[in-house]
Amino acid sequence: MSCDLVDDLRRFLHWGPITLLSLTLVVTWTVIEMNSMWWTPGQSLGSAVNYTLIWLHTFGTLYNFIKALMVGPGYIPLQWYPKRVKDTEYLQFCLRCDGYKAPRSHHCRRCDRCVIKMDHHCPWINTCVGWSNQASFVYFLLFFLSASIHGSTIIICAVIRGLGKRWFIKQGLHHMATVHLTPSNLMACVVSLGVTTGTGLASIKLLYMQLKVIVKNQTEIESWIVKKAGFRRNAYPGNRIRPFVFPYNLGWRSNCREVFFATGDGISWPVLPGCNQYTITREQLEQKKDKRARTRSYRCIRPATGHWLPFISQGVWTSLNIPCTDDPRISLQPEDLIQVTRIQEHWLYGERVISEEEKEQGMRRKGAIRGWFPSRCAVEILGEESYNEEDNDDVAPDQKEELVDTKCEKTCEESNQNRKIPRDFPSPDGKPRKRVRI
Ligand SMILES: [Zn+2]
Ligand SMILES: [Zn+2]
Repeated sequence: MSCDLVDDLRRFLHWGPITLLSLTLVVTWTVIEMNSMWWTPGQSLGSAVNYTLIWLHTFGTLYNFIKALMVGPGYIPLQWYPKRVKDTEYLQFCLRCDGYKAPRSHHCRRCDRCVIKMDHHCPWINTCVGWSNQASFVYFLLFFLSASIHGSTIIICAVIRGLGKRWFIKQGLHHMATVHLTPSNLMACVVSLGVTTGTGLASIKLLYMQLKVIVKNQTEIESWIVKKAGFRRNAYPGNRIRPFVFPYNLGWRSNCREVFFATGDGISWPVLPGCNQYTITREQLEQKKDKRARTRSYRCIRPATGHWLPFISQGVWTSLNIPCTDDPRISLQPEDLIQVTRIQEHWLYGERVISEEEKEQGMRRKGAIRGWFPSRCAVEILGEESYNEEDNDDVAPDQKEELVDTKCEKTCEESNQNRKIPRDFPSPDGKPRKRVRI
């Protein structure tokens, strides 16, 4: 068996695919069991069509699920370089893949590869949704939603028949009193109905998001880049930066064709007139430069536990003012250095710098290295130019842990090293910054 096939099959060994396949098995068994009593196959043309639909839904769901999982999103080759050396200046470098990131690709921490046109990492298929498998993923959602509606309808009709069995017999409607409910099949119906309702609703939301992505030809990560492009332009007085034009939205017909009849190589993409292959990667590099300018070095002066509600260690006030986001919280020890990029009155967001000792000893502390911590646990170091080497700005804050490796990016070091950070750089809330010299 080839190595690739083994890797593909290994993707099944994860809680996402195992849960989804187990639930599909339970629900399908329940639907077939109840359907055989409610509307016996072979009874009429309608019952034959109904029975065929059950299997069509099951086959369509499983086929597209397995295809999306096994085909995968498509990866940029390891150690990839653009054909023209000059083009490397417009691209980010991925240390994990030891190559450049082609336009529209992003490194996924879970897949540990740079993914072509990465949308998001989906735990249910245990891989990313991207260039190669987006169409299969959408078909899977469509079949899944349709199967959920059909299955729920059969179960509800069968249970109603079963509950009214005595009444049907009394009325002399013996042909209607066909469903015999037992504690075990009633339990299976309740569980299956819960599953189909919950997963059906979730698939509606996912399907809506995927269709939006396809129609606009803008992945979730790219939407975040476009949003930040807007913030950057609004943040500069006089607005001297040229407006950012998202280059890949060619109209809904072309956009759909690009996904459902995938062509091309996943490296170069059709773009709007006036744009080029590097329109978006240039914008990403500029956004990273801006982010570095906002980065500040802090030193930990009292331990942070990494708890979400640190009532005991940090007091009530800090715990009542937690950031309203699901970003991780990090634990800190005195003398730790942190590169801070977001500031709130009671909390700071940043990345703990891994010390040389920690690297050498290979004794990485447990827990996230990037996240929120109480602001009273650290003080800013003045007179030191901050530089966040491992930046990871392509992904919306709530997706960062999910999607992208924190160890993979190297961008524009030279230009950043020459940058002078303005001393009067304001805090995000516009208030003057509190600085402590130590
Ligand atoms: Zn990579
Ligand atoms: Zn992934």
